[in-house]
Amino acid sequence: MIIAKTIDELYNAKQTLSGSIGFVPTMGALHHGHLSLIQQARKENENLIVSIFVNPTQFLEGEDLDAYPRKEVADKKICELSGVDILFMPDIGSMYESDELCIGAPAIRGYILEGEKRPGHFDGMLQVVMKLLNLSGATKAYFGKKDAQQLALIMQMVKNYFMDVEIVLCEIVRDDKGLALSSRNIYLDADEKQRALALSRSLKRATKLVMAGELNVEAIKKGMVNVLEDVDEIEYVAIVDREFNALKEVKIGNTIILVAAWVGKPRLIDNLWI
Ligand code: AMP
Repeated sequence: MIIAKTIDELYNAKQTLSGSIGFVPTMGALHHGHLSLIQQARKENENLIVSIFVNPTQFLEGEDLDAYPRKEVADKKICELSGVDILFMPDIGSMYESDELCIGAPAIRGYILEGEKRPGHFDGMLQVVMKLLNLSGATKAYFGKKDAQQLALIMQMVKNYFMDVEIVLCEIVRDDKGLALSSRNIYLDADEKQRALALSRSLKRATKLVMAGELNVEAIKKGMVNVLEDVDEIEYVAIVDREFNALKEVKIGNTIILVAAWVGKPRLIDNLWI
């Protein structure tokens, strides 16, 4: 595995590759969720590039940029053992200059839900994903459904900017109790971890309601809120289509049910695609 820390090192490392390139962008502190993306990309491509970059432009003032978990040694080992060809770990100076040209999230879909709670987050996210996709020269890039709105916006960016890369959607990986894996879960103590299960429980409640024939969005949301009493604060419960347009009724095969809530220190998100 070649570790590239600068753009030149990445381009030199890419010279050693021939054939299709699978790419998995991450912010590190790798867990089994990341690993599932890496393993799928390894299987489906001749070459595999993984990036680890905690992107400052997608953190808002007061968010956990400095405290974001970093596990460089373990991450390198995981990538090495997973058959990664190039691990790209740039510093901020390699990725940005001052007075940059910026692309922005769309005015509606980029500013609802996560975008409403974290205004500007998606601008920074799209900016870095555009850079990373261009740098990697990926044939296929792998993203988790865990960050559903992020994924929808990346797919829109690829479509709107006619980018030549296939976006592969990967399933959410959970622990044995149902908690969606996240680098930020390390902030949870035992009691909070237990209470955090309310998020996936609310999604299970939604599934049960839909399976019982309930398609009304407001009724399903109400049912979900009832099982979210263990969280410290619900930020939103939402039901949208795959492009993040609002729905009045669940459309089987084109619906995402989302929940965001605070439990202790971290803000957690989870969702279900039906
Ligand atoms: P992050 O390091 O949090 O930026 O995540 C990097 C990629 O891993 C993103 O595409 C995430 O959606 C994906 N990811 C994070 N957690 C999970 C999970 N529990 N299951 C599947 N994919 C995940």
